[in-house]
Amino acid sequence: MNLYSTKNKKKLVTLKEAVLRGLPEDNGLYMPENIRPLPKEFFSKIEEYSFSEIAFIVSNHMIGDSIPEDDLKKIVESSINFPAPLVSLDKTTHVLELFHGPSLAFKDFGARFMAQLMGYFNNEDKELVILVATSGDTGGAVASGFYKTKGIKVVILYPSGKVSHLQEQQLTTLGHNIHALEVDGSFDDCQAMVKSAFLDIELREKIKLSSANSINIARLIPQTFYYFEAYKQLKDKNLPLVVSVPSGNFGNITAGLFAKKMGLPIHKFIAATNSNDIVPDFLISGKYTPKVSVSTISNAMDVGNPSNFYRMIDLYYEENDESKIDCSTWNNLKDDVIGLSFSDKETKEGIKQVKEKYEYLLDPHGSVAYLAQKDYKLNLKSQINTIILETAHPSKFIAVVENIIDKKIIVPERLKSLTEKEKISTKMSSSYEELKEFLNDNY
Ligand SMILES: *Cc1c(COP(=O)(O)O)cnc(C)c1O
Repeated sequence: MNLYSTKNKKKLVTLKEAVLRGLPEDNGLYMPENIRPLPKEFFSKIEEYSFSEIAFIVSNHMIGDSIPEDDLKKIVESSINFPAPLVSLDKTTHVLELFHGPSLAFKDFGARFMAQLMGYFNNEDKELVILVATSGDTGGAVASGFYKTKGIKVVILYPSGKVSHLQEQQLTTLGHNIHALEVDGSFDDCQAMVKSAFLDIELREKIKLSSANSINIARLIPQTFYYFEAYKQLKDKNLPLVVSVPSGNFGNITAGLFAKKMGLPIHKFIAATNSNDIVPDFLISGKYTPKVSVSTISNAMDVGNPSNFYRMIDLYYEENDESKIDCSTWNNLKDDVIGLSFSDKETKEGIKQVKEKYEYLLDPHGSVAYLAQKDYKLNLKSQINTIILETAHPSKFIAVVENIIDKKIIVPERLKSLTEKEKISTKMSSSYEELKEFLNDNY
């Protein structure tokens, strides 16, 4: 598997380089050089495969000889080791539950696979130190994904008092190779400290640093797997299939577009957003206008300048000029992707409606996706299948959700046990010098 940068398609790098680097030097995004269709036989036999077999076949198809099959099998088996069940609300409306991993959000798929790949590729003697700043959710998935990964240490910076109790427990109770730094400052301060570390040549000569950035291509590969797993579980495969994806940074939907390129028969995608409607806006107007993000109850999608936008564009761009978004790109993308956005008020209404109508509890992100497919169906004359991606367990947003349904919700055991564990963190001011001293002393 070779990859190019969205800003320079001529310069190819290996998968190892793309994974360990994260971002190309030219500040573009890594993209697979080609995404070929899977053999027809795979789709006709798909119901015979387990999720882990599907994950292996798809990743082997994408990654090719960059990783020997036996090694890849181990990587898949130790990262994709929880299910993604498809639950039907009615005959043609389905929910794909992506929250059965350790942090109860779909980010577990990406973080766990990335951790395994980094551990695999970092086969040199020198220990790799992953630095991440988190505003809450990403940190939890990264911490549990890298937990006990050989040769890798993880340092997570989070703003003291500004993440939820549960999120803090996810970052601070693992120990072992995961170290949490509690910063007296904002998320932006944490990010600035991490950035300073990456720019510090003296430090980088001593310590091998890497990032677990959400735009690492290693996160997108495993996010393609569950689209196939969803299709496998569909009973009626003859109806056109529309997948509604609650979107923030647009990594999830980009992975879905990869799956479509590999031949998965998805008729259309819905990019479902909260009031941060930059992409739905683009799909209407053809103009991409990043904005400052606004806070919503589906806060993992509060993104004003989605980092995977140029990956989506790249998939639909016909000519070799990546800087320009022309009319044909826009038209091509519009053929496959519909954009719809919803307010917090509508999101709450959606949770309530689904609970009353189907006895099923969605989280705010899933609710946005539910509303989008419902709106889309209103204008159709013929029947279709829709799949709503449920990206987090409702108990992760317990305060919001309990308030809406006016009832206590059952918290999964693995989440409950977390709240009883001892918190271990290192307090620190928001000065870079203090971070540098910490890194120099400890690694
Ligand atoms: C990150 C996240 C999203 C958004 O996914 P993207 O890939 O960034 O579009 C949606 N829902 C939840 C619960 C998330 O954590």
